[in-house]
Amino acid sequence: MHNVDIDLVEMTLDVMKYAINRITDMDPVLGKPKTEKELRSLVGETITPAGIGGETAFKLFREILVKASVPIDHPRHLAFVPASPTRAAIMFDLVTSATSVHGAYWLEGGGCIFAENEAMRWLVSLTGLPEGAFGVFTSGGTEANLSAMVAAREAWRAKDEARATKRGLIITSDGAHSSVKAMAKVIDVDVEYINTEGRFEGSALIEKMAGLSEEDRSRLFAVVATAGTTNAGIIDDLAGIGRYCRDNGIWFHADAAYGGGALAASSVRNLFNGIELADSITIDPHKWLFSPYDCGAVIYREPELARQARSQGGSYLEIFHDEGARGFNPADYQIQLTRRVRGLPLWFSLAMHGTDRYQTAIERGIELANIAGRMIGETGYTELVREPSLSCVLYRRNGWTPQDYIDWTFKNHSEGFALVAPTKWRSNGSHETVARFCFINPDTTEKDIKDILETMR
Ligand SMILES: *Cc1c(COP(=O)(O)O)cnc(C)c1O
Repeated sequence: MHNVDIDLVEMTLDVMKYAINRITDMDPVLGKPKTEKELRSLVGETITPAGIGGETAFKLFREILVKASVPIDHPRHLAFVPASPTRAAIMFDLVTSATSVHGAYWLEGGGCIFAENEAMRWLVSLTGLPEGAFGVFTSGGTEANLSAMVAAREAWRAKDEARATKRGLIITSDGAHSSVKAMAKVIDVDVEYINTEGRFEGSALIEKMAGLSEEDRSRLFAVVATAGTTNAGIIDDLAGIGRYCRDNGIWFHADAAYGGGALAASSVRNLFNGIELADSITIDPHKWLFSPYDCGAVIYREPELARQARSQGGSYLEIFHDEGARGFNPADYQIQLTRRVRGLPLWFSLAMHGTDRYQTAIERGIELANIAGRMIGETGYTELVREPSLSCVLYRRNGWTPQDYIDWTFKNHSEGFALVAPTKWRSNGSHETVARFCFINPDTTEKDIKDILETMR
């Protein structure tokens, strides 16, 4: 394995050349979907006793596999939550891999964890949380939510022995991301939902609490609000919910996985007022902070509570907590043990560009949403379902059935033109299928939006 032969050098150059081309390609091919059967017949067997050779495998990757995958940074990929990693961050993702550093413990990863923590310090500063608050980079928002919920539940149990066997309960709203429910299942706690038609208000929480049984109230350990719903970009009443939670000793988690980037955007920062009351916050740098996949973050008001809930014992791990290894151990604050130093690409890109460039790029997403909102109102055949919120735009094509939206999505995708998907919006008690844009990529142009709207004519 250690003979650096000519083939390996050539392979390395080929791979780097590909990477450079891809990083600098402003308009990558929007891959078209293929079935597994089609792919199998095109690709054949690749895992064989003798190997098929790097050249062949790489050719299959370039010519078939990548073309059946969607580059999420395509300027006309406006479905779900797109992404737009900076070139600096992507390059540094390569460097992070090449460097081979274990990111769980300071003893091994100290220098690199230091850099991650510099980026984290900036993230924490955006939240307005008090001195002492800190966080750690996770694989994504799901793991960040899970880590926060575990910390919340364990902090609740630590306050009263009788809670050791009590099943926990959290309250959230119907706008919460599906991962909240999924992670509640993982830690085996119940979820009570508050129905909203948009924003989860502090008053709705008070009302909900009044309707809970004594027993349920005694099981409640956290309230989860969303700071930028994934579907519509709505920011819950963080101040109202946060104040109620603080007054009543309930852990307040703010899920800003998608919206968190906009904490850096001064035009909308006031909408997040109250986030500084949170006990924990989720932010996904791989969504609106231009990091490559995968990079989430969980921030705690009191990191020590997370450490007490999380840190792994084990005789072979003891040395990491020894005097000589003193330092910040990311493994103690989230679910993963072995981890890449996944905050490094964000650190490098922030260091290279400066935080002002980040603010400008995030503001552009918000601006694009407002531009799209205006254009939608002017076509004569489309209209806004609600005013754009953060970088999300919900709109309808007058007269279309749900199937029309689906056909439109697949037509644009299979032509390699755009990926824009419908969603559902609830108003007056009924669900309507509507079209949705989510802007992240500052390279998306007004012409891109115009051309997409044209396909609905
Ligand atoms: C995307 C998202 C998540 C899940 O994050 P992953 O990084 O996909 O695991 C959680 N919450 C919200 C609000 C999100 O937008």
